Amino acid sequence: MINGSILIGAREFRREALFSATNPATGETLPQRFCEAGQAEVAQAGALAQAASAGFAALTPEQRAAFIEAIAQAILDIGDTLIETAMAESGLPRARLEGERGRTVGQLRMFAAEVRRGDWLDVTIDPALPDRAPLPRSDLRRMNLAIGPVAVFGASNFPLAFSVAGGDTAAAFAAGCPVIVKGHPAHPGTGELVARAIASAVAACGLDDGVFSFLPGTSHALGTALVTDPHIKAVGFTGSRSGGLALAKLAANRPEPIPVFAEMSSINPVIVMPAALAARAEALGAAFVGSLTLGAGQFCTNPGLVIAVDGAGLERFVGAAADALAQVEPAVMLSPGIHAQYVAGVTARDNTAAARRVATGKAAGGANRGSGAVFETNSADFRASHVLGEEVFGASAVIVRCTDLDDALTVIAALEGQLTATIHMDATDAAGAARLLPVLQNKVGRVLMNGWPTGVEVTHAMVHGGPYPATSDGRSTSVGTLAMMRFLRPVCFQDVPDALLPAPVRAANPWKLPRKIDGMRENAR
Ligand code: NAP
Repeated sequence: MINGSILIGAREFRREALFSATNPATGETLPQRFCEAGQAEVAQAGALAQAASAGFAALTPEQRAAFIEAIAQAILDIGDTLIETAMAESGLPRARLEGERGRTVGQLRMFAAEVRRGDWLDVTIDPALPDRAPLPRSDLRRMNLAIGPVAVFGASNFPLAFSVAGGDTAAAFAAGCPVIVKGHPAHPGTGELVARAIASAVAACGLDDGVFSFLPGTSHALGTALVTDPHIKAVGFTGSRSGGLALAKLAANRPEPIPVFAEMSSINPVIVMPAALAARAEALGAAFVGSLTLGAGQFCTNPGLVIAVDGAGLERFVGAAADALAQVEPAVMLSPGIHAQYVAGVTARDNTAAARRVATGKAAGGANRGSGAVFETNSADFRASHVLGEEVFGASAVIVRCTDLDDALTVIAALEGQLTATIHMDATDAAGAARLLPVLQNKVGRVLMNGWPTGVEVTHAMVHGGPYPATSDGRSTSVGTLAMMRFLRPVCFQDVPDALLPAPVRAANPWKLPRKIDGMRENAR
């Protein structure tokens, strides 16, 4: 059921300020009206989350895992209404959204399994050494604790997998933190359906209802109130660089500053090495366009920059890319605002003397359709141009023609932090790739060989992060089980009597957790 309410714990609230979503495929305003949450609702949700914090953090791994699994099931139980609502609000096709629902549910279940395993508590015990000379050593027991209530900003480009019950929420719940979601204004009905699924799981598991609240809204004032609410202890965000930076600044200027884990902008360089170009330039050019135009190019891992040494191979690559892009239909973008920003970004590239357009998708017709646009430039012009180095969210990329590998290295050295970097190489490119790799690994969160960066696996080893401005904190990932570490902090108990200790660090190990004793794995001793 969707009625446009604000959901705070188990209660629903209405307000007079209302907004509606737009169907980007038709340009029509959708009929359902949604209440705009404000300062009062933030304060209420924050206080409720704070009250639920200690109890939620103290659940056994089994209890918290069961809750996360109940959310996954409740999302599946919504059925096709969820897919149809998301299609109408995002313009994304059914198959993509069904896949995204599978990813969302799978992600929740993966976190549940991780919670049960217990490694994330990182229990580390240095037993007392009363006879140590010249001084005895105290008994020291360390574990990770939940950081407290987390504010999550749903992303526009993943209405399910990075929104209300997406990666940030799943990671925060897994860590034991209550969550308050600021719903993305582009898909409020989708958000409400998923929020109700989470609320039903909270009730079914008998948890304190402050564990979850959902605040729909369209104003920066709501996001500002949420980030500055004193009960909030961390923020998860996916969106624009300007939005992420604004929230990070607010968080840093609070009386009690808090961390903001913002995943912002990236152009994901792809370096195509000479032997790879010589061997398969046409296939690479076509595959590049496939990755560039996937989902109308609205992925943070979209390959927005190609770097290669100039020559016949690169000519063939550009020709194949132009042929492939000429066949690509214009695609519905996520919202009128995102479409307008895409058109503005492509126009700026068209207008710069530093680049020229070399490939174009089929002409855009109909509401909010984005048509692909690829540009080329040289190394010096690229390094001097802001317009070419900034993310244009959508199917636009820049190809940089370099004179040699050293020239390519100057381009790479000038890049900002990125989520990914990709090298396409053949065996005889190995020496050159070995020169690139150490430079690239310092710029990105993930290095790929002979693949394409779109399509992020949700696994234990995944890193979806990277140095600024890819994210606001390059030590973290927002995808994969490691994402829960953002919402944990270590605490050491010194000489605390066993009966007073939290279960994970008690001598008897009642939760049967993997632990490190005196620097060694317990079962390895
Ligand atoms: P956005 O404008 O950054 O908004 C994301 C969320 O943050 C929304 O809920 C928005 O709420 C809130 N917000 C933004 N700026 C804020 C501020 N100054 N103070 C308080 N809250 C703020 O992102 P978007 O709407 O998803 O898309 C816009 C652009 O973001 C795209 O064109 C693209 O450039 C970029 N984007 C990048 C990625 C990526 O993965 N790299 C993903 C999605 C979008 P309100 O609008 O309600 O205030």
